[in-house]
Amino acid sequence: MTINELRNECDGRLNEAGISDHLTDSMLLIMHVLNVSRDHILAHGTDPVEDDKAEKLLELVRRRCEHVPLQYITGHQEFMGLDFAVNEHVLIPRQDTECLVEEAMIETGDGMRVLDLCTGSGCILISLMKYKNQIDGTGIDISEKALEVASLNAEKNGVEAVFLCGDLYDALNKEPEGSVSSGSRFDVIISNPPYIRSDVIPTLMEEVKDHEPGVALDGGNDGLLFYRRMIEGADEWLIPGGCILFEIGFDQGDAVSGMLKDKGYRNVCVVKDLAGLDRVVKGHKRI
Ligand code: GLN
Repeated sequence: MTINELRNECDGRLNEAGISDHLTDSMLLIMHVLNVSRDHILAHGTDPVEDDKAEKLLELVRRRCEHVPLQYITGHQEFMGLDFAVNEHVLIPRQDTECLVEEAMIETGDGMRVLDLCTGSGCILISLMKYKNQIDGTGIDISEKALEVASLNAEKNGVEAVFLCGDLYDALNKEPEGSVSSGSRFDVIISNPPYIRSDVIPTLMEEVKDHEPGVALDGGNDGLLFYRRMIEGADEWLIPGGCILFEIGFDQGDAVSGMLKDKGYRNVCVVKDLAGLDRVVKGHKRI
């Protein structure tokens, strides 16, 4: 088969399976399997494709037809201009989350100690460390498998972060005294935690509800469980005057900023994303 014939075949199968971005996805899958650019595909449509490559491509298309997210199939997602490895153990980095990293860049000075809770693929901590100087970064996640991905991403992007496994701040208490993470508080605490209400999860896209890790999505009955716990623990782990920043759902701005104000945080504000939706809440701990 030629490249064009394969493209038509893949596109047809994806369309039939109800994949909304079938044209884009068939193009990206062909680029991935042939390891060539979009321009190459467009310019060499009549070139023949070797049988083993065609077979591999059709196998990947079969997975995409089952609504496996494209990024889990190719194993990559770009975030903040960097390449991140992903698999089914981590949430796929979203462009919306770049808004959180941009706010964190404003709040973070060179050399600060930063704690990223629910680090997942590590995309937030790693991009912050990449774009700032000498950040002492610690990432925590409850999933060992997620941390394997985060460590790989730190290495790929040339940053040296410490990754700890555990349930939020518990991971820090487990550290032996005198080790990198024991004792000292953080200048900045950041997180994109699970924040979707449990009853909303069944209504999400198949790609998300059936394939992304539920543990990275479910924020409990009101979606706010992790914000409550992270703010509580910041009493102990954030320095006075330190900044806490969270990604939030579009309708959680009032609730989460209210929690910070109740605790006496200063300069509490809600930041909108590029779509104009509430996306980040941040504030500074009382001095
Ligand atoms: N911090 C990770 C991200 O932003 C994972 C978030 C999560 O697991 N809820 O992609």
